[in-house]
Amino acid sequence: MVTEMSSSRPKIDPPRPAFDVERIRADFPALRQTVHGRPLVYLDNAASAQKPSRVIETVRRYYTDDYANVHRGLHYLSERASDAFEAARGKVRAFLNAREDREIVFVRGTTEAINLVASSFGQAHLKAGDEILITEMEHHSNIVPWQLLGERLGTVLKVAPVNDAGELLMDEFERLLGPRTRLVAVTHVSNALGTINPVERIIELAHARGARVLIDGAQSAPHAAVDVQALDCDFYAFSGHKLYGPTGIGALYGKRELLESMPPYQGGGEMIREVSFTRTTYAELPFKFEAGTPHIVGAIGLGAAIDYLREIGLDAVARHESELLDYATPRLREIPGLRLVGTAARKAGIASFLLDGVHTHDVGTILDRHGVAVRAGHHCTMPLMTRFGVSGTTRASFALYNTRAEIDVLVEAIRQAQELFRR
Ligand code: PLP
Repeated sequence: MVTEMSSSRPKIDPPRPAFDVERIRADFPALRQTVHGRPLVYLDNAASAQKPSRVIETVRRYYTDDYANVHRGLHYLSERASDAFEAARGKVRAFLNAREDREIVFVRGTTEAINLVASSFGQAHLKAGDEILITEMEHHSNIVPWQLLGERLGTVLKVAPVNDAGELLMDEFERLLGPRTRLVAVTHVSNALGTINPVERIIELAHARGARVLIDGAQSAPHAAVDVQALDCDFYAFSGHKLYGPTGIGALYGKRELLESMPPYQGGGEMIREVSFTRTTYAELPFKFEAGTPHIVGAIGLGAAIDYLREIGLDAVARHESELLDYATPRLREIPGLRLVGTAARKAGIASFLLDGVHTHDVGTILDRHGVAVRAGHHCTMPLMTRFGVSGTTRASFALYNTRAEIDVLVEAIRQAQELFRR
């Protein structure tokens, strides 16, 4: 869904066939079904993406043939599982172009990654009065952990506002970036509006003032190449389930020296070197942050999703989704009484809208009767909805397998919803 994120990722991927959306659709079994007697049009990708056969088959094969716990056993299956699990870490490292595997911590998803940073970076580096700067367009998972931290430590949350198009007001951002700002935590792409934030500039400005930067990559990782070294962000978080991988798995990238300076997030097995009742020492990175049995099959499935995406090519994915947005936007605008919420100049494949006289939930329900899956509500961005004076929007979000024909179905279904309420 990201249209123009720059990347200086080394070009190590092999040449690929031309982007063929019908061939890609054939890789996703869920897309073959009908809903209420209509072909499924799945436009709820910002919430969670469908899974290609490659991922489903990898997960099935792991449970069938390779299942064992990792890192603990000396037996054949455990070694095989451990190798696959660590290979998946290597795939995430390459995907983000991190320097080292140990900079990749497996977590449940973006939410857990941000909570880990809040808790552990907070404990090591923050004190009462220190400021954390976020934006008005953050997902609740990049708001609430900082509020919880504030309750515990007395840190102060500052919020940079957006304009009516849903773009971050950079002047305000710079003004709020003060001598007490220790961390900037910002979404790369807004899940509610589609705005692509100028994270390169944000990171540059924050670093110039001595603040660390966490990028919430939940909506950027699946849709365009990301290079954490080129960005120079300190942390980057994403979720596997939005990236065509399994649920319950995601990753936190952190610069090694920073992760090393932070205490464990949770205690238990896997994360220790030696335990006694008086003193425990901790394992090396990244295991220090991975207490307990990890989501082994999730990580391996995520590795398969990354292989799949890289074979198609993130640049081709970004191009395709950008074309879908360019196709959808004027067609949606043509619908009388439809107002797009989020009209930033740099936008990802997300169309959030309001329809005069029809409640967003009713729009969602009627679209569902046409087989069109969208999301209706606040999108876990209540403060942003308040900023726009609405309780929620209807949101269509595009992925690599969506087509122009599906957008035509969406537009027609919206017109019919409108008709129904006009009577
Ligand atoms: N951040 C953004 C921008 C999101 O869109 C989401 C999910 O929608 C999250 C964070 C939370 O992701 P998860 O629920 O996978 O932890």
